[in-house]
Amino acid sequence: MSDVRFGPGGIPDWLEPIVRFCSRCGSRLTFGAVADEERERLSCPSCGFVSYVNPRLVVTTLPITDRGEVMLIRRGIEPGLGMWAQPGGFLEIDETVRDAAIRETLEETGLQVEPGAIIGLYSRLQAAVVVVAFEARIVGGTPAVTRESLETKPFAPESIPWPEIAFETSIRALSDWVAAVRPDLPLPDPATITRDFGG
Ligand SMILES: [Zn+2]
Repeated sequence: MSDVRFGPGGIPDWLEPIVRFCSRCGSRLTFGAVADEERERLSCPSCGFVSYVNPRLVVTTLPITDRGEVMLIRRGIEPGLGMWAQPGGFLEIDETVRDAAIRETLEETGLQVEPGAIIGLYSRLQAAVVVVAFEARIVGGTPAVTRESLETKPFAPESIPWPEIAFETSIRALSDWVAAVRPDLPLPDPATITRDFGG
């Protein structure tokens, strides 16, 4: 938490350019005390609009084969180009979490899944996201290469390519899954899972 740089708007530096102006009237927002608010916020000195900046939800799945392997994708886009991660993406405003899990998995892997239990919820302050990871049963489809994925490949719990996993939240989700299905296996040292980008 302490390594996140929160700038003068009370938000991570990289977010500042996209919440610089009032979305209602276009004036420049200012950061400071706001009536009836417990903390300082970005607000508009012209029209009084308060700009709440909150984390976004990233919906992901760990698609599990009938042999008990997890399907991961080798990412075809930044961040984490060429590294491995589970399928997932931002929740859209017009869909449920479950629908998003199914859609993102199909888009990125070609696999049809049925989301089951939630493996975990993972906050990542640097990226201003909360990542939910569902365990998901593969019920159809064929592993496919897409614009976002160079490869989709099954990994047994003992064969997760830990140093090549793209995101800290992915390492944490995969660690929780491995701990549940194969408690005998060693897990990555949390001190070694630092990643500089993305989730
Ligand atoms: Zn305004």
